[in-house]
Amino acid sequence: MPYRKSTLRRMTPEARKLAKLVGELQSVARRLKALVPAVQSFEMWERADKKRQARGVFCNCGIRFATLSEALPHLQEKHPETYEALKGGGDAKET
Ligand SMILES: [Zn+2]
Repeated sequence: MPYRKSTLRRMTPEARKLAKLVGELQSVARRLKALVPAVQSFEMWERADKKRQARGVFCNCGIRFATLSEALPHLQEKHPETYEALKGGGDAKET
């Protein structure tokens, strides 16, 4: 907890400077601590995303593609219904 203003006022000048610095340090520590969960979830998301990218995309017929966009020509040729469904779901504005 930071020092109360009334406490600071009663302090000698150098002690007051030091007490104010302690208060700032505690405030910075508190704000940094609040960032930990955000960094935690970002890292977890990033790790999962890397795994997903390494795994690639599997078509129902078993062929592996590095990305969904690489699978699109195959879908268009071999599974036109799936391709149309994906296109429809992906961009509703386009007709
Ligand atoms: Zn296929």
